[in-house]
Amino acid sequence: MNAMNQDRKTLIVANWKMHLNVHQSSLLLHRLSERIKVHRNIEVVLAPSMLSLQPLALEIDRRKFKLSAQDAYFKDEGGYTGEVSFAMLGSLVQYCIVGHSARRIYFGETLEMVRDKVQAAIRNGITPIVCIGETKQDRDAGEGRRVIHDQLTTALMNVTSRDLEKVVLVYEPVWAISTFDGILAKPNEIEKAIAYMRMQVRELYGERAASKVSILYGGSVNDQDVRGYLEVPGVDGALVGAASLNYHQFSAIVDVAYRMRLEV
Ligand code: PEP
Repeated sequence: MNAMNQDRKTLIVANWKMHLNVHQSSLLLHRLSERIKVHRNIEVVLAPSMLSLQPLALEIDRRKFKLSAQDAYFKDEGGYTGEVSFAMLGSLVQYCIVGHSARRIYFGETLEMVRDKVQAAIRNGITPIVCIGETKQDRDAGEGRRVIHDQLTTALMNVTSRDLEKVVLVYEPVWAISTFDGILAKPNEIEKAIAYMRMQVRELYGERAASKVSILYGGSVNDQDVRGYLEVPGVDGALVGAASLNYHQFSAIVDVAYRMRLEV
């Protein structure tokens, strides 16, 4: 018996970040496809680079995998050189990561931009996977809760209670991500932060919405420790970066999630 919630689907998301060209992405998909079975109640979501989305959309077995973009622009079209809109992605992907800390930190993405991207995703039938998390600096300054509060409430500012069902949240403390500080988060820290996020959702949308919304954990998750993270009460899945580039590790992560669902 474990803490996994029966009513909420388990999501395992692979964030390939700016790795793998089209050929390499296709090869990784092929290798994952050989190892990962169709699992009810588990959604395995692959987020390759923008360039690989189109070819992968043609190759993918949609019963096994869903596709996600890693980012998109909130305007539907116009003179925004270099950008790709949610409207353009609508027929290719089911999900889009929004507000990843790499976007907020390296590309100056503001709270308001994240809010507009969440809205644009929903407008175009794409489920936003909204990343929320404080930096090490925020944490050391005792500002962690305030940052989580501000990121979450702004991101959901224009989301109706009906649309909230189309939103996935992720608690991703920046200090735990492998490419930032890579400090392993303790289960009780994750549990408290996720309970706090669910409480924010409860205050905004009520009890029913709070009990339905999926909240994932992200930050240096690998095949050895994923079970420990998925056992944390309130955690509905994982956003996986570095370990998702290794097909042995990523398929093992999915396998752990699958076995845990069977144990419930
Ligand atoms: C991420 O950047 O979304 C992430 C979770 O990365 P990693 O697993 O490498 O810490």
